[in-house]
Amino acid sequence: MAPGRLNRRTFLAGALAVAAAGCSDSASPSASSTSPTGPSSTGIAGPTIPPPSVPAGGGTGVATPPAAGVPGNPFALGVASGDPLPDRVVLWTRLAPLEGQMPQTVVSVRWEIATDAGFEKRLYEGLAPAVPQFGHSVHVDVQGLKPATTYWYRFSAGSWTSPIGRTRTAPAVGAAVDRLKLAFASCQHFEEGYYRAWADAAASDLDVVIHLGDYIYEDELLGAGKVRNHVGGAPVTLEQYRARWAQYKGDKDLQAAHAACPWLVIWDDHEVENNYAATVSEREGRPGGPTREQFLAQRAAAYQAWWEHQPVRLDPPGSGEFRIYRSFVWGSLATLVLTDSRQYRTDQACGDVPLQTGPACADAAEPSRTMWGADQERWVLDTLATATTTWKALANEVVMGDLRLPNGGILNYDQWDGYAPARNRFLGAVADRNVSNLVVLTGDIHLAGAIDLSVDRGGSKTVVASELVGTSISSRGLLPASIAALARTLFPAVKYFNGDKRGYARCTVTPATWTCEYRVVDDVTRPDGTVSTDATVTITAGTPGVVRR
Ligand code: FE
Ligand code: CA
Repeated sequence: MAPGRLNRRTFLAGALAVAAAGCSDSASPSASSTSPTGPSSTGIAGPTIPPPSVPAGGGTGVATPPAAGVPGNPFALGVASGDPLPDRVVLWTRLAPLEGQMPQTVVSVRWEIATDAGFEKRLYEGLAPAVPQFGHSVHVDVQGLKPATTYWYRFSAGSWTSPIGRTRTAPAVGAAVDRLKLAFASCQHFEEGYYRAWADAAASDLDVVIHLGDYIYEDELLGAGKVRNHVGGAPVTLEQYRARWAQYKGDKDLQAAHAACPWLVIWDDHEVENNYAATVSEREGRPGGPTREQFLAQRAAAYQAWWEHQPVRLDPPGSGEFRIYRSFVWGSLATLVLTDSRQYRTDQACGDVPLQTGPACADAAEPSRTMWGADQERWVLDTLATATTTWKALANEVVMGDLRLPNGGILNYDQWDGYAPARNRFLGAVADRNVSNLVVLTGDIHLAGAIDLSVDRGGSKTVVASELVGTSISSRGLLPASIAALARTLFPAVKYFNGDKRGYARCTVTPATWTCEYRVVDDVTRPDGTVSTDATVTITAGTPGVVRR
């Protein structure tokens, strides 16, 4: 995000909040309408339109305005919440009826938040505009909440009311926290499987879910075995990306997981295009491939669609950089650092040809190669080095562990192996700046694993952090069985490995340990698959590295 854009006049949906009837003892929600310090701690800035007038708080509260021209129930995509802070959380929905088109007009949406599921103890309510320019998405940053507290919320428009969502604020900064229950997940190709893993997460009483990207897939499953079909071909325009997102967001198991707790989301490649790197399309130079200019327009459309569909406290993107890296603090227990490994990276080395077993080309060892870009790399290190929490977690897209072959061969140039000097620079700084208890949470690769992360100094390796690789919610395994077998024997740093199962990771974090259960689905091609624990791993505070239990 360009900080300069914060100077424009912005409209904060939450500013329309009024204290609900019967809750006169509650603090008034803050009505700040600017974002003073960047996305890690700010109010959300919405579209730049004037707020509609609302009735004052008291007696009857806020009436739901009519929704002229809305052709059917507009809450088909469910609700979500995200980016929790000790005093605020973002509530999300997007008006998108299953049948018919939304009118090209602003629709006023009522929102409510309560301390009970029956909404008898409503705390705040207000109106937020759903504007066509942003796909009739709604982001409300409700402020004036209490730390470490559970709330329920819902929206209404015209005669329709949304499903009810449950959310939770972060603990107060520095507060002692006994336990954080979180899940992390990635990679949910709609055509390749059902989302039973999300149903399991929804029933797990989590404090927060971290999504590491590949939330949608732009590409079609080639070959047999589709369990359901994408509507339309690979998206390029904003309208096409919106339609793809709406299809994914229609999944009931996914909606249940969003409605169960706040999420922290980043993106990986497929929210735009497979293995794109900054402004370089994977299809650049191929017959029919886009020019740089065309790809930038596609990327901007994809980024906007991401923003429209996710519960994030970020300004909507323009046509250039869209800063999504940001951090969250969970009392004295954990700092959660969310990174962006797509927008600033150097193009993949050596032609990005996968599963090469010969030595890598010289390009891969070029020290100037970057995964995060200089600004983000500095920000990540500073955030980790100044964190005062016991644990520091990195929400990270692609595998960081060193899985290069003994001859220097690189199986996947898209992951950190293809950026090895940048990796060693990062892990070296983690050691030099005494970043303790660093846990890297990783998606992308459609397999489950747990890896010790080492810094290499002149051939001498020291374990400095731990990596937990979640498998995919539904996307197919990528590794041929022969290579998977090789991986098991070749890499002693890999403490757990399962390339065959879909699922997610469910973690319990305490001041003493970070424990993760790898939850796996027996058969992702059935809508009623069952979920169980494949393995449990533990990291002990003060001792970098993973132990399988
Ligand atoms: Fe993926
Ligand atoms: Ca990916």
